[in-house]
Amino acid sequence: MHDRLGGGGIKEYRQKVSNVLHSDIHHGLGRRQHQMNTRSDLQIAAACPTCSPEEPRLHHIIRQHGAEVLVRCDDCGSVHTVISKPVRTASVRTIVSRGEDSERYTTELPADHEVYVGDELLVDDPSADEVHLVEVASVESDGRRTVVATAAEIDTIWARAIDEVTVKIAIHDGTRTESIRMQVFGDQEYTVGAIEKIGWKNARIIRIKLHKRGFKKNKGDVVLAKDIKRIFAERIR
Ligand SMILES: [Zn+2]
Repeated sequence: MHDRLGGGGIKEYRQKVSNVLHSDIHHGLGRRQHQMNTRSDLQIAAACPTCSPEEPRLHHIIRQHGAEVLVRCDDCGSVHTVISKPVRTASVRTIVSRGEDSERYTTELPADHEVYVGDELLVDDPSADEVHLVEVASVESDGRRTVVATAAEIDTIWARAIDEVTVKIAIHDGTRTESIRMQVFGDQEYTVGAIEKIGWKNARIIRIKLHKRGFKKNKGDVVLAKDIKRIFAERIR
């Protein structure tokens, strides 16, 4: 992605800023919208003196004079000037697992950016011309696995793809249990007690085993597909 942009200036700056955004997704800026915004041209993230002096917000770029960039806040519409300063970045090896497979990517992050286990990142996949949403499972720095490290000091980020995930479901029909795998989006919700149509069968979710330890088994408990190890269900006829 970076290579294709080429040159320097505002595009490069935007690209670097968008990497900051990528890793800030978990702060609740709204993942889907975010993803689209970071792909459109001429936007940067910056604090907004009017509505968000602390947290960065997306801004459209109106024009640029040297390092001074005139921008309009996407949230409140106010217009102000920000200074675009070059950001030092680090290329971090990122191993993304998806089901049984894993693939290696390179993620550009601001050198001083801290990466935590549990962070969501967008990883460029130049071969497929795609961007994958991943969740950091482990960070390797100085030859050791750790829960947080600064990008410049990271050897490898180990992550799990959460844009599409495989959900395993065991359906019991009274005499035997059938195991089925489904490809779904990571933010697909499953509710204990709900009836799901699996292929041509209907099944009621009895309990959900989590990637982290434990189960959800109270009626109405909701779990996102990316957090599910296995769903246990009983067939409804
Ligand atoms: Zn604003």
